Amino acid sequence: MDNNYTVLARKYRSQDFKSLIGQDVLVKTLTTAINTGRIAHAYIFTGIRGTGKTSTARILAKALNCLASDGPTATPCGVCENCRAIAAGQHIDVLEIDAASHTGVDNMRDILDAAQYRPTNGRYKVYIIDEVHMLSTSAFNALLKTLEEPPAHVIFILATTEIRKVPVTILSRCQRFDLVRVPVETLKHHFAWIADQEKIELTDGANELLARAADGSVRDGLSLLDQAIAQTAGHVDEAAVLDMLKRADRGVVVALMETLLSGDTAAALARVDEIYNNGADLSMLLTDMMEWTHWATRMHPALHAGDVTNAPYTADQREQIRQINERVSLNTLSRIWQVMVAAVPEIQAAGNQKQCFDMLVVRLMHIADMPSVPEILRQQSNGGTRTDSAPAASTSAPAATAHVIDSTDSLARALQESKEILLYSYYTSNIEVSEISDGHIKYFDRRGDADFAPRLATWLNDKTGHAWTLERITESPHAHTITEQKQEELAADPLVADAMSLFENAEIVGIK
Ligand SMILES: [Zn+2]
Repeated sequence: MDNNYTVLARKYRSQDFKSLIGQDVLVKTLTTAINTGRIAHAYIFTGIRGTGKTSTARILAKALNCLASDGPTATPCGVCENCRAIAAGQHIDVLEIDAASHTGVDNMRDILDAAQYRPTNGRYKVYIIDEVHMLSTSAFNALLKTLEEPPAHVIFILATTEIRKVPVTILSRCQRFDLVRVPVETLKHHFAWIADQEKIELTDGANELLARAADGSVRDGLSLLDQAIAQTAGHVDEAAVLDMLKRADRGVVVALMETLLSGDTAAALARVDEIYNNGADLSMLLTDMMEWTHWATRMHPALHAGDVTNAPYTADQREQIRQINERVSLNTLSRIWQVMVAAVPEIQAAGNQKQCFDMLVVRLMHIADMPSVPEILRQQSNGGTRTDSAPAASTSAPAATAHVIDSTDSLARALQESKEILLYSYYTSNIEVSEISDGHIKYFDRRGDADFAPRLATWLNDKTGHAWTLERITESPHAHTITEQKQEELAADPLVADAMSLFENAEIVGIK
C-alpha cells in the first residue's frame, strides 16, 4: 500500500448535511432550525461511535461561519476560507477539544476564559467538545458557568457516546440530538458507492457481511472495508470477509444448530472442531449461534413475532430453520438462549476457549435433548403415535406438535407454550376430561369457575383457527387431572418411591 493512502473514513467524511449517512431526522430538524434563524447556544450529539457526531459538529460549525452567505446557512459552500479551515480542523474560531485529554479544570478554565473575546474570522466562536462525559466534575462546573450566561457569539457543540454520564445541569442547557445506528441497507448503499469510487470489486455478499459487522457505525464499517481491500488487493468477496472477520458462514451456523438440536453429541462436536480448525473465532461463533436462536424464536410458529423479513438468512436457510422449528419448542429455544447468554463472559475469560466451547455444546445438547414434561406425558399417553399435521422429523429429536390440539396433553402443552398461565393452571388442576378431539371437549369442572369455559373457547378458536364446542358435564367421569397424572407418574418412578419410603407420611405436594 502506498504511503499516501488516506483511510476511507477520513476520505469520505460527510462534508455537508445532505451527505450525512442515515441521520435523516437530525438533518431535517437542524437544517430547518438554521433556515429559520433559530440557533441554540449549546447542542449535544449523542450516539454510538462512528455515527457522525464529529462530522455533524463540523458541518454545523461551517453552517454558522460560511462566508458564501450573509448569515448562518444550512448549505455551507465548502470552498470558502472558513469552510476549508473548519474541514481541516484548523479554523482559529472553531476549537475542537478532546475531553479525554483535557479533563483538568485548569485547562477547561483557560479555554473558556477565551470565550469572552469576539471571533477573529468567523461569526461565531464554536467550541466542539468531544467525549464530553470524560470531563472531571470541576471541569463540568467551569463549563456550566459559561453555559449559564453564554456570550452571544459563542456556540457549544458537545458530543458523547455516553449521555448518561453527562450531568443533568449541562443537558438541560443543550439542544439534544440522538444519532441513530445506521441501518444495514443504508450502510450497504454507502459502501457500494465508495467501492465504485475507489474502483474496487465488492460483492453483494461481502458488502452485506461488512454492513452487519459494522453494527450501525459508518466508521467501523469503513475500517473493515479498508482492511478487506488491503488483504485482497481490491477483490473483496464473501470468503475473504468471512476469513477476515474470523466468522463461520451462516449456512455453517445453521447446520451446526440443526445437528445440535437433533441430539447427536458426537456429530455436533465434530462440526465445532471443523469450524474451529477453519479459523473461526469461537466468541464470534457463539454470537452467530445466539443470532440464530433469536431469529429461530422469532420465526417459531408458536410465536407470531412480527416481521421477520430482516432475518439475515437465505431462502434455503429459512426453510431449514422452519423445519428445525417443527420439532423444537419455544421453551427449548429460550432455555438455550439463557445458557448461551451466561456463557458469553465464560468464553471470553476462558484460558482455553475450545475446551470451554465444547463443554458449552454438551450443555446445550442436554437442553435440546430433554423433552419437557408435557412432551413426556404426550409420548406416553399416545403410545408414540403422532396425530399432528407436521411433516415427520428426520431425526430422533422429541416431536413438538404445537399445531393440533386433540389430547389432554397437547392442550396442556399448547396452553403452556402460549404462556396462558392462568388457563393452564386451572385446566391442569381442576378439569377432568371425558372426551377430547380436535374441535370438541367434554369435561367435568371440579371447581366450576364460570369464566373458564368462555376463556378457553376463545383461546382455542384463536389458536386453531376453527370453532370449538365445550360440553360441560355435571357428573365426574372419575378421570385424573393433568396434575394428578404427573404426580402418579412421579410416584411410580423408582427413585421417587425410594425417597418417599424414607420419610413417613411423605406426600408429593408439587412438581418443580
Ligand atoms: Zn463556505
